[in-house]
Amino acid sequence: MAASEPLLSYSSVRAYLECPLRWKFLYVDGLKEAPRGYFSFGRTVHNALEELLRPLVRPAAEPEVALAQTTLDGWAPRSIGREPDGGLMPLDDLLALYRRSWISDGYANPEEEERYRVLGSEILRSYYQTLELSPPHPVAIERHLEATWNGLRVHGYVDRIDRTAHGGLEIVDYKTSRELSQDDARESDQLGIYQVLVERNFTEPVEALTLYHLRFLRPLTVPPRPAKEIGALYERVGTARDGIRSQAFEPTPGRQCSRCDFRAICPEFRDVPDEERQPLADLVDRFARLREEEQRVDGELRATAEELHAAAQRLGVHRIPGSQGFVRRKPEESWQYPPEGVRALLEETGLSERADPIDPTSVRRLQRDPTVPPEVRQRLAAVGHRQVRWYWEIDPQKPTGD
Ligand code: SF4
Repeated sequence: MAASEPLLSYSSVRAYLECPLRWKFLYVDGLKEAPRGYFSFGRTVHNALEELLRPLVRPAAEPEVALAQTTLDGWAPRSIGREPDGGLMPLDDLLALYRRSWISDGYANPEEEERYRVLGSEILRSYYQTLELSPPHPVAIERHLEATWNGLRVHGYVDRIDRTAHGGLEIVDYKTSRELSQDDARESDQLGIYQVLVERNFTEPVEALTLYHLRFLRPLTVPPRPAKEIGALYERVGTARDGIRSQAFEPTPGRQCSRCDFRAICPEFRDVPDEERQPLADLVDRFARLREEEQRVDGELRATAEELHAAAQRLGVHRIPGSQGFVRRKPEESWQYPPEGVRALLEETGLSERADPIDPTSVRRLQRDPTVPPEVRQRLAAVGHRQVRWYWEIDPQKPTGD
């Protein structure tokens, strides 16, 4: 049965690419991670900002509105002729709302929680002042968007979408983290996926992407991602989608393991039960001994074959009798071709579609193909480099006295 097309968000793609097994624990098995104070803090501040800015929202034209129109007269996008529902609520109301809706899950101790609580108040106070001086023009707040992106199903919650001075759209994502740089905005896969979602759900063009660093009141704004980068992002999302569809859920240990909640059930870290330890220890010791033996035998085998090769070379023979049978010397041929030389030759002779210059097997096949003009085959042979490796086969037939 074909696996259904997964609906992917930025965070689920990132989780899969970081460790497919952790992704399975989260999204297939439905296991929960322990709450973290910094997530609770980010959520509380986001919620307060959502309440603060929602009255400013003036919705933009979206495809379904535009598509539903029959004539220009009938076109009345929600953004035209409609005033915002109101202004900013008073600062005291915002701070009261912030305190009321505080999420206290996951903090290490009351002191840490209090530090975050104070930090949140300071952030909201300072940000409120910048909003008063220069209010944004949001067309959507905390908006869930979903799209099919050349076959991939993606979705996400966008913190804010603003109308720009030129009538386009700016995607804004708030960050409460400590450090953030312009490069973070330039390389953010999260903003890239939001761009794809907004482009497919709104008629106006995306003109800017912003990570808003709330601790420093600093908007890190970059232009929309160019088609080439969106193409590379598509590949990354596609890799996650393909892995999920084929149920490839192997653990990928790395630095992320130190903050993974599933170490106790992950095969990379799980301990062998006490009652199994001794029999398994015996098996491990036996395996190690055999591996050592294998390496010793392998070395001896190679040295013996070399001695036989030297004798065969000296005597000009390919067949050497033993007391139980023969050994026969056989050649194994391989060809190497310089990719640049082959590429030029294939282009010149119009055969570029017939072989891949970096795949010697396909070039060799072309070199032997009777439908290819003989002079081309000869030129391929001339640029190629033939290598021969000799090996021995055992023929158990007894020597017959020759
Ligand atoms: S402990 Fe590491 S390898 Fe195991 S599931 Fe977690 S992230 Fe993956």
